[in-house]
Amino acid sequence: MTTTDHKDLSAAVALAAKWIGESERLVAFTGAGVSTESGIPDFRSPGGIWEKYDPRELTYLKFLADPKVRKLRWKMFMENEAMWKARPNAAHLALAELHRRGKLRAVITQNVDGLHQDAGLPADKVIELHGTNREVYCINCGQRWPAAVIRDRILAEGLEVPECVACAGILKTATVSFGQPMPERELGESERLARESDLMLVIGSTLVVHPAAMIPMIAKEAGARVVIIALSETAGDHYADLVFRGKAGEIMGLILKSMKGEG
Ligand code: ZN
Repeated sequence: MTTTDHKDLSAAVALAAKWIGESERLVAFTGAGVSTESGIPDFRSPGGIWEKYDPRELTYLKFLADPKVRKLRWKMFMENEAMWKARPNAAHLALAELHRRGKLRAVITQNVDGLHQDAGLPADKVIELHGTNREVYCINCGQRWPAAVIRDRILAEGLEVPECVACAGILKTATVSFGQPMPERELGESERLARESDLMLVIGSTLVVHPAAMIPMIAKEAGARVVIIALSETAGDHYADLVFRGKAGEIMGLILKSMKGEG
């Protein structure tokens, strides 16, 4: 393991670029650190939404049972300026560029903001472990809408809590809420991609949330190299082959530049 500092940053960048060049089954795993660089606060950090709202009051079961909780949740949805305004940053764009060069098999993400797709990754290349806030669905009949369509309806009709237009069922954003299980298909697909990968780039995740945190470990145990890029210490640093301490966008930019340099 190499924890980089300014002295050996260029050597570490060159090594990561070399490994990406050699890789045939590169999988990226991204967390909140990638989104914060687009202005979306990590919901667990100061300034995040759980400083303002108590997550214990907003579990999936309470959402279903209590109209007051649904009202609060939709208020949060409408007030989530960061979500509505966020644009992909250099880290998202770097991953999309790796895809264009045929170097990226998939991105597994803990983020729900859809910014990987906005950066140009096809939807089928993005595995969203915690769902997406870009879509709203009816818990009763399963119909889905883009979140912006529901936002426009809320504004146009002056609603506090929107209901399904087809069946009057309860609507919910397609994110995985507290108390809701991880989506089985996405989790299974992530484990398969991890087992089959030869290089996993972990970007902006502290790897503390289970079971998502298991994914890079599965890759490592299956023989893949693991490269971690994060601002602070992560739970995977001890088994990683290379660790970068820094901003995801900057480090990814340096790595891509180094790859171009190799021709
Ligand atoms: Zn419905």
